[in-house]
Order: sequence, then structure tokens, then C-alpha cells
Amino acid sequence: MRHFPAFLDLRGRTVLLLGTGEVAARKAEPLRRAGAIIRQAETFAPAMLDGVVLAVGADAAEADLQALSEAAQARGIPVNVVDRPALCSFITPAIIDRAPITLAVSTGGAAPVLARMIRQRIEALLPPAIGTLAALAERFQAAIRTRLPDLAARRRFLDQALTGAPADLALAGRVEEAEAAFAAALAASDTTPPGIVYLVGAGPGSADLLTLRALRLMGEADVIVHDRLVTAEVLDLARRDAERILVGKAGAAHSLPQPGINALLVRLAREGKRVVRLKGGDPLVFGRSGDEILALREAGIAHEVVPGVTAALACAASAGIPLTHRDAARTVTFATGHVRDGVLDLDFVALARPLQTIAVYMGLATLPQLRDGLVGAGMDPATPAAIIENGGTGGARSLPATIGTIAALAEGWASGAPALVLVGDAVALGAPPSAS
Ligand code: SAH
Repeated sequence: MRHFPAFLDLRGRTVLLLGTGEVAARKAEPLRRAGAIIRQAETFAPAMLDGVVLAVGADAAEADLQALSEAAQARGIPVNVVDRPALCSFITPAIIDRAPITLAVSTGGAAPVLARMIRQRIEALLPPAIGTLAALAERFQAAIRTRLPDLAARRRFLDQALTGAPADLALAGRVEEAEAAFAAALAASDTTPPGIVYLVGAGPGSADLLTLRALRLMGEADVIVHDRLVTAEVLDLARRDAERILVGKAGAAHSLPQPGINALLVRLAREGKRVVRLKGGDPLVFGRSGDEILALREAGIAHEVVPGVTAALACAASAGIPLTHRDAARTVTFATGHVRDGVLDLDFVALARPLQTIAVYMGLATLPQLRDGLVGAGMDPATPAAIIENGGTGGARSLPATIGTIAALAEGWASGAPALVLVGDAVALGAPPSAS
């Protein structure tokens, strides 16, 4: 470790800031936020250091900056001169300010740009209202101590309160409700906490298409119950200690039948666990979430749905296909290609009408039936169609065709990866990125 990190209490204390330009203004801002009194000057005189606890040099003349550094260090006052490590006795980190939470990142001066990149990554992981949550916990500090004098008991309570319902409310900016929930949780702090199930969309497979909320909940989960469609890349971001249970396969065959999954979710929640039910794409699009929500509701278990990027949107994006278009598509339909009793039971008359885009999920195996149904209902066989595999991921590829030719072309092209079929005039407007 090159530098010792510490956080200074500057409230009401004087800081000398040498320089009056843009760099000085940038340095002044966080000092002001920390409550410092700023003594700003253009040129240096030693008397300026009287009563000062910290000195910063920015855009002043070279001789003044050197004099400042020397004089401050002679008096034992910490000094930083911007971009001049040799003149510094302390360095300033990249800061994330979610008051009262502050994160500071430093590369010890080795690569400040890298520190800023790290800061951006951490920023993306932290809910914007994390400071509100910390302030809430601070307000309850005394009350918590009084009710739970035992440290371990306090930890257990805070572990739950800071990741449970009061936290969710605080993070959603609902401060008053969060206060009430926090107080209620504290009053009930010796009983077992009730479990909760989050039905979370994992998106099309790339980790960076997860929502920040999905990422946060995965990081707090006791158990992750997931389908085969959820990629290893996404699962890697779940809490290390979280138990992982694979319950479903992509496509038609399910390794655990739906009633078994419903019962599993209810049981885990009744054990007091935070359950993340993770599904590929969006949980409410061909994800059997309706059944699970009903089972949770009947069992009286708290649950919440977190949307994800559904395959139709991810595939359209990968292939550059507009799902809607002023002249070519005024309606988008999400349809299933999954058969019931061997029959593709879709309303082909409605789907064959012009000015719409159809996205068919699980539709590869039934492409001939889709073609026959649509053409039989009057669709022009020359209507553009495409298959997109692994949409939204680095491995995306697309096969442009027409509804007349697509079934034959798909054989020998499809790799078995998750694939979506798009049909409609707007599909021809696709400009696949050169990589796919
Ligand atoms: N809830 C999911 C859909 C589950 S049904 C969602 O919203 O995306 C499973 C079908 O989704 C697959 O058979 C395939 O048609 C489609 N699918 C899922 N991920 C896909 C991807 N990355 N690329 C193409 N199709 C995908």
C-alpha cells in the first residue's frame, strides 16, 4: 500500500487553495461539500498558512506552488499540488459521494485514469439512493442500541434491515415508508424474518444487459432458482454464498415440472430466505411467471417482479431490425411457436394481416407450420423473415429470408442456440452489424 487512506473532518476548518482557475474550482468543489472554509489566493505568502489544516495547490505560478509545498511541509500541514507528485504529501482519490457514504479509489498515483474507470464501475453497482439508506440507519442508531444491546444481535438485525424491505423502500426514495418499515422491523427484531421471492429477468445472456436492480438483488440473495437459459456469465454475478438451484431447461423439456417449481419457491420463502427466481429475458414473457405469482399469492408470500430485456428486443437490436416502423409495422406481436398437442395453435388470420411484426419465441421446430399457417391465411410468401440466434450477446447471428424460404434455410443454419423468428415487412429494413 503506497498511501494510507483516511477521511478528514473539515467541517468549519480552513483549507488554503492556491490558484483561481478551472482546476482550482474543481478542487474547491468537494472541499466545500465537506464543509471546509476555503481561503483562496492567486500568489503564495507563508502567512496564508496560519490556522490552515490542509493546503491544495492548483493552477498557480511554478515558484508559488513550490514555495507552498515547502512551507506547508515544514509546518506539518498536509499539502497536495495537482499533477505534481513530488510536491505532494497526500494525494486525492477518485470519489463517489453518496453522503453520508463516501468511497475513495486510488491507484497511488500510478494511473489516475484507471482509478476513474474503477469509480465508474462501482458507481454503476451502487443504488443511487444508498446514501438515503445510510442516513436512515444513522437515525435509528440509538434506538437499535437500546433494543439490541448484544452486538451479534444488532449485526443480525442490521444485516436484514439493510437488505430487506426498509432498504428497498429507502433505495426507491420512499423515505417515510422506509422509516416506518425500519421501526416495525426493529420492533419485531427477535422473530424470524419473512422470506421474499423476486422474479427477476436476466436478459438475453450478456451480463451487461442485466438491470442494476437485478444485479443488486442477485448480490443479496440467499438462493438463486434459475432456468437453463440463464448464462454462466450472469450467474457469476450472484452472491458467492447464494445457493443455486437449476430448475428448468431451455425449450420444451423441463427438468422440474412447474408445480414443483412453485412449491420450491414457497418452501424457500417460508424458511425466511431471500429468493431470486432468475429467468432468461423478461420474466413475464413466456416465462411461466403467471403460475409462480399465483402460487406465491395463494401462499401469502411477498414477491416482486423485476423486468429484463426480452429476446424480441435483444434480437431486434442485434440485427438492427426496427420492430415498429411508420410505414411497415404499427403492431408488434410476441407469439409462441410452442405446440400444444402437436399443433401450432396461433390466430393465423390475425397474424397474416399487413403492417405488423411478429416475434416468435421457441419457434424453430415449428417453422414449417408457421409458414403454412401464415401463407394459408393470405400472407405473401415473399414477406421478409429472419432468424436471430443468441440475440443481445457477442455470439449473435442472423439469417435473413422470407416466410416462404425460411423453414428450408433454417435447416443446416441453426446451431441449437436460443433463436427467435421475426416476420414482417420491417424485418427487411434490418441492417445487421457487420460482425453478425
Ligand atoms: N422469458 C424469455 C423467453 C423464454 S422462452 C424472454 O423474455 O426472452 C425461450 C425462448 O426465448 C427461446 O426458445 C428463444 O426463442 C427465445 N430466446 C431467449 N433468449 C434468446 C436469445 N438470446 N436469442 C434469441 N432467442 C432467445
